[in-house]
Amino acid sequence: MGGAAEVWQTPLTYLKGVGPKRAEVLKEELGLETYQDLAEYFPRRYLDYKEVTPIVQARPDQEAVFRGRLGSFQVRPLPGGKRALLVSTLYDGQAWIELVWYQGWDWVRQKFAPGQEVLVIGRPRYIKRTLQIPHPEIFPLSEAAQLQKLLRVHPVYPLTEKVRQSGLDDKRFRMLFEELYRQTGFEMEDPIPEHVRQAFDLLPLSEALRAIHLPTSVEEAEKARHRFKFQEFFFLQVLLIRRKYFLKSQYTAPAFAQVGPLVHEFYKKHLPFPLTEAQKRVIKEIRRDMALPVPMNRLIQGDVGSGKTIVALFAALIAIGNGYQVALMAPTEVLAEQHARSFRKWLSPLGLAVGLLMGSTPSAQKRRILSQLASGEMPCVIGTHALFQKNVVYHRLGLTIIDEQHKFGVKQRAALWEKAHPHRPHNLLLTATPIPRTLALSVYGDVDVSIIDQLPPGRQPVKTLVRTEAHRREVWNLLRAELQKGRQAYIIYPLVEESEKLDLKAVEEGYELIRQAFPEFSVGMLHGKMPSERKEREMQLFKLGHTQILVGTTVVEVGVDVPNATVLIVEHADRFGLSQLHQLRGRVGRGQHPSYAIFMAPNDLSEAALERLRALLQYNDGFRISEIDLKLRGPGDFLGTKQSGLPEFKIADIIEDQAILRQARQAAEDLVAQDPSLALYPALQRYLTEYATKHSLELFTA
Ligand code: ADP
Ligand code: MG
Repeated sequence: MGGAAEVWQTPLTYLKGVGPKRAEVLKEELGLETYQDLAEYFPRRYLDYKEVTPIVQARPDQEAVFRGRLGSFQVRPLPGGKRALLVSTLYDGQAWIELVWYQGWDWVRQKFAPGQEVLVIGRPRYIKRTLQIPHPEIFPLSEAAQLQKLLRVHPVYPLTEKVRQSGLDDKRFRMLFEELYRQTGFEMEDPIPEHVRQAFDLLPLSEALRAIHLPTSVEEAEKARHRFKFQEFFFLQVLLIRRKYFLKSQYTAPAFAQVGPLVHEFYKKHLPFPLTEAQKRVIKEIRRDMALPVPMNRLIQGDVGSGKTIVALFAALIAIGNGYQVALMAPTEVLAEQHARSFRKWLSPLGLAVGLLMGSTPSAQKRRILSQLASGEMPCVIGTHALFQKNVVYHRLGLTIIDEQHKFGVKQRAALWEKAHPHRPHNLLLTATPIPRTLALSVYGDVDVSIIDQLPPGRQPVKTLVRTEAHRREVWNLLRAELQKGRQAYIIYPLVEESEKLDLKAVEEGYELIRQAFPEFSVGMLHGKMPSERKEREMQLFKLGHTQILVGTTVVEVGVDVPNATVLIVEHADRFGLSQLHQLRGRVGRGQHPSYAIFMAPNDLSEAALERLRALLQYNDGFRISEIDLKLRGPGDFLGTKQSGLPEFKIADIIEDQAILRQARQAAEDLVAQDPSLALYPALQRYLTEYATKHSLELFTA
């Protein structure tokens, strides 16, 4: 928030109740330095004094409100004899809990008597297996005047032990906000334009700050939280939508008003299967985009096996049919090769050449491809990072297709786009890691999203099992039975970047183990560190059925389409993300035979971790799974923070608050359409600049 008034920049030392020592702790522990920082430090939840917790449900470290009768008071000397503590109990008819005061407790004994009914607020903890509340806040129930105050809700802030030790416990921390309110009245310039506030029924900033920190009711506090959630989404959306706006207004792309002759020819004569309704819809969306003289920027999300490749082919046919070139980029050579095979199969009947350009391409071949791309003879090239290297020149690049787009950085994607001249190309991005729609809106706020939410007909559901080491025999038996029927299997080991060497060893050992366990079958191995000819050879051997078992890392994840493979075993499944496991599962179930995905976990895996894996038993829908995955891991982890560039949300929850996100997006769209420069909204501009700097986001200006 960009408070204009200087008071907001005052260091917290100057706030009554803080002082230099505590200021230091607040800075170190919570990152709070100024009045403004404190104002923006939001409570995690609220205690409503009307909601009394039964003492049997008291939990350590969970601040709660209890109600009961006081027991007798005991003064116990502390070792050393100088000081003593006061102990009592609270009993609510079912259970009791200890109350302890270490100092300054004279008033307690003066004011309260054993047997009296009271409300107690505090954070229980265990001392020698006894649950007790140290320094509880305590109120007599009989005092009518107090009751009014008691009925107020109290915010609970996330505090650390060091903060508490510095003397700022829950109660004293709350009091800082009363002081802050006294000094500032929470007067701060509101970045959300008034007409937006009115349209979406949002509290003005000052009122919201007061209500979030010093609420008089839970409803009011909720209203304030709602406003700040909206604000958080709104800032990000305005930034993203402006980026989209300026990209579209700054660059032109070739307009393909007609789909051209190739689309019709392919559709009439060479279509290998009827398209699903979802595929048709997405192709239409692409057609519409490519007819315009602004660069298409469309992300296709579709579950594994939903048939994204042929959709991409239609986009390619439009570009080529209009005399332009197409570049399709994939993150791995295995995947690039697979696309090249599909595209060659589909394009050769039309008399179109498809080049394959990768790091491992022999240099003579490379030279030939480069010259044909430069001259325009080659209409379509497929490859890896090699496609955007310096030496690659395109004659007329009209479309780029990026598969598994999240595996590329922003700069790499841009490097490919910059190969086009004088126009920008149309861009099609593909991903088989579907992310929940609302997250897509907020991460990819600057792209248009199409969803293929339907699988081609006739797919066999994959039977999913979660097994621990204890069931190894059973798993091997199942595998053997399938192999004896003539089927094939994948066995996948994790490969995490930090420990690549170790993991590689695991794959190699696994390979040896399998060879010994299944001497009657031939076993292949595939991992990313192999030279690409060997990878290609291993893949071919497996595809042709010469090897029955392929032991590998997740390079298999995106690589292969082998309908005869019916068993997938993932070792150490607990080390994979759910979405990734779901993707792996998509490697089987591609033919007419029933298939199995078996996720292996160590014997000592915690129940919570097993539960996570079991989500895969329950759901077979990549979107649903990604939602769970996202919930468990948080957006940063889920997307890989680096690539997503998505800031952490402080108060908004990307899953729970989808409705608010939609509203914020709507508001941002309207605002940018009406005033892209935001000249009418200087306060918003100031806040956005601050927000963008803080989160290292690009700030687009006219
Ligand atoms: P993904 O979306 O995972 O990239 P692919 O494009 O590789 O999926 O398609 C998976 C398989 O389904 C391929 O063998 C493809 O030829 C086939 N396929 C795609 N669309 C259809 C369809 N409409 N009908 C039948 N099979 C299809
Ligand atoms: Mg694919």
